[in-house]
Amino acid sequence: MKYQVVWFKRDLRIEDHRPIVEAAKHGPVLPLYIVEPELIHAPDFDPSHWTFIRAGLVELNEQLTRLGQALVVRVGDPVEVLSQLQIAKLWAHEETGNWISYQRDRRVRRWARDTNTPITEVPANGVVRRMATRDGWARNWEQRMAEPLLSAPTSLQKSIPGTPIPTHAELGLGPDLRRLAQRGGELAAFQTLDSFLSACGVRYHAELSSPLSAEESCSRLSPYLAYGNLSTRQVVQATRRRIATLNEADASSWRRALRAFDARLHWRCHFMQKLEDAPRIEFENMVRAYDGMREPHWNQEWFDAWKAGQTGFPLVDACMRMLHQNGWINFRMRAMLVSFASYHLWLHWREPSLHLARLFVDYEPGIHYSQFQMQSGTTGINTVRMYSPLKQQQDQDPEGVFVTRWLPELQSGKYPQPIVDHKEAIALARQRIGAVRKQSATRLEASETVRKHGSRKRPPARKERAKPKQDGQQMLF
Ligand SMILES: Cc1cc2nc3c(=O)[nH]c(=O)nc-3n(C[C@H](O)[C@H](O)[C@H](O)COP(=O)(O)OP(=O)(O)OC[C@H]3O[C@@H](n4cnc5c(N)ncnc54)[C@H](O)[C@@H]3O)c2cc1C
Repeated sequence: MKYQVVWFKRDLRIEDHRPIVEAAKHGPVLPLYIVEPELIHAPDFDPSHWTFIRAGLVELNEQLTRLGQALVVRVGDPVEVLSQLQIAKLWAHEETGNWISYQRDRRVRRWARDTNTPITEVPANGVVRRMATRDGWARNWEQRMAEPLLSAPTSLQKSIPGTPIPTHAELGLGPDLRRLAQRGGELAAFQTLDSFLSACGVRYHAELSSPLSAEESCSRLSPYLAYGNLSTRQVVQATRRRIATLNEADASSWRRALRAFDARLHWRCHFMQKLEDAPRIEFENMVRAYDGMREPHWNQEWFDAWKAGQTGFPLVDACMRMLHQNGWINFRMRAMLVSFASYHLWLHWREPSLHLARLFVDYEPGIHYSQFQMQSGTTGINTVRMYSPLKQQQDQDPEGVFVTRWLPELQSGKYPQPIVDHKEAIALARQRIGAVRKQSATRLEASETVRKHGSRKRPPARKERAKPKQDGQQMLF
């Protein structure tokens, strides 16, 4: 028997899942997940990612089993795995992933062509494949987000036995050290969305920048979106439905909060589009004129101190320590961590980006590398943002509650001295980046980057426009 094979990747859900809906119309479905050794042993992968993915797979398997056909899990190279299956047609979502997944998708498409295996890939979100121009992108995003949500098939024909989902040990992965990380799965994703839209999100816009309040006030949907336990469209539509129900009494704060949130869902795809269009920005400067600017100055000791949360800058270290346990921190603090590595320590962003990829349970390559380059000043098109950890601490944690929570040694007097002098380090960084930024070759390349990656203006949420100090939009020095 030949199957309609539905290949699950970063879309671990059955609701609003076009591949499974379409496949089920055409014949017996084989729902497939491939654990790819090349991906799970790559330097951007962490055992905590497998914990999150595995929880999603366990739940997906239960849901599929209830429909009639359990999940089939294989470990191996996708082309080899697919070659061993009887495929009538292969269905999948388009993935904007890391370089390994990008190359793998090319190999799979080549194999499909060579073996005459029909393959249909459908958009996963607002990212446009083989996009000719950014013009019209925002309109297209709105259209995709407005498409009706798809219900899961009501039943699947049982045709092949399911297989167990491997454990960390079976895959040769080490222990998961993020003991406070979020739990994966479609159910947890929906609960998180519900609690954000009904209660936690009311002060989102005002509380997203402080690591003290952001933990409760941000949506915390990032890992669910990263592994597709929810589709972006589901979140956008739920948010807009909620906005439509607001009454006079709660309208003001909620409306502001949800508009700010909605804007970020748009940014999500906007940033991912950059990696889709230029997959090499995972390891190459977006503007190549910045090549060589930081490489000769690599300082391993500083990098080790940054990774361990031992720089002597309390807010930087507290954020890093929280990440070690939680696998999550808010946007402003991520930006500050990267700014500190890139400017104070003048480290090339590549190794720091891998370290944070492993720490972030919500690691999403498209957002991650685009943001990393932006916060490191190598896009040539964004304002250079150098965050002062001291000012951020005054603004975001004036009582020192957050730093004391994560740095118990502050109390015992065993906390290290700062590894660099803040003022000197920033002055040097400004001089160094300014020298490259003003070269005509850099400017020329930067204007090409604007044409290729620049937003064609979707105005920010209405209320935010009046507020110049919007998160991450200005010099925070
Ligand atoms: C250096 C750096 C690396 C980052 N790496 C990642 C990553 O690997 N994965 C990831 O999901 N986010 C990343 N972000 C963006 C942002 O920090 C997180 O999306 C956010 O903190 C996740 O928490 P939340 O879901 O509660 O966000 P909320 O504030 O509730 O936002 C909702 C969703 O909108 C999207 N979003 C929010 N802020 C941004 C933004 N600035 N750019 C693009 N999309 C955004 C995310 O999908 C997020 O889940 C990075 C930011 C920086 C500065």
